[in-house]
Amino acid sequence: MLLADVHAHLDLIGENERKAVVERAIAAGVKVIISNSVDPKSIRKALELQQQFGVVKAALGLYPTEAARLPAAAIEGELNFIRSCRARIVALGEIGLDYQEAKGDRERRQQQRLFELQLGLAKELGKPAIVHSRQAEKGVVETLMRLGCKRVVLHAFHGSMKLVKAAAEAGFYVTIPTNIRRSSHFQAIARELPLSKLLTETDAPYLAAEKDGKSEPSHIAATVARIAAIKGMDAEEVANILYGNYQRLFS
Ligand SMILES: [Zn+2]
Repeated sequence: MLLADVHAHLDLIGENERKAVVERAIAAGVKVIISNSVDPKSIRKALELQQQFGVVKAALGLYPTEAARLPAAAIEGELNFIRSCRARIVALGEIGLDYQEAKGDRERRQQQRLFELQLGLAKELGKPAIVHSRQAEKGVVETLMRLGCKRVVLHAFHGSMKLVKAAAEAGFYVTIPTNIRRSSHFQAIARELPLSKLLTETDAPYLAAEKDGKSEPSHIAATVARIAAIKGMDAEEVANILYGNYQRLFS
């Protein structure tokens, strides 16, 4: 099987579990795990994990809540650091907007500014953007469209089906996370969107198939099986199409 996990947080998996988690992923057929970062510490950790494991690729970025936490000079420093890593990274991520976390208008404006700065950087570096949105789905899609972004992954996207379809029509990819098993929302996305618009992710260790469980990249195999069942197709064929999407977007 050719499987891709385009959004995981391998740095959040315990140091002593991590090697076994990566080995289980490889045994399940996972060919690539994109470890996303959220802050200065995890940016450096993603680069380290990429060095350590052949299957891991790094996505660097500042999570929306960093907009209020980091002083402007630190943000600029991080963006310059990401710029200097151009040859070593596959994407900007995890970036986006999170209105649940934003305390008020001022913080929303700060998030918006950080999001747009990082989208500009993605364009400058010729990399896709892996995008987080929470209670800000419309704002995220509007921003991406307004800035003319083309290479986009909408991760764990909870917008309405109308917005999901508009995003797919704009050329954005939408991920199916491991929790498709218990989420009618992601089952509906798998049903409604063509396979050519889908990618798989775990958000490991989050969004597990079981409510209080931990996800890991090997679980992509079960996600692909579920998508195949929904589409009435062979799992191998679905895996190949989704892996082709990954290759097209990230190369
Ligand atoms: Zn994430």
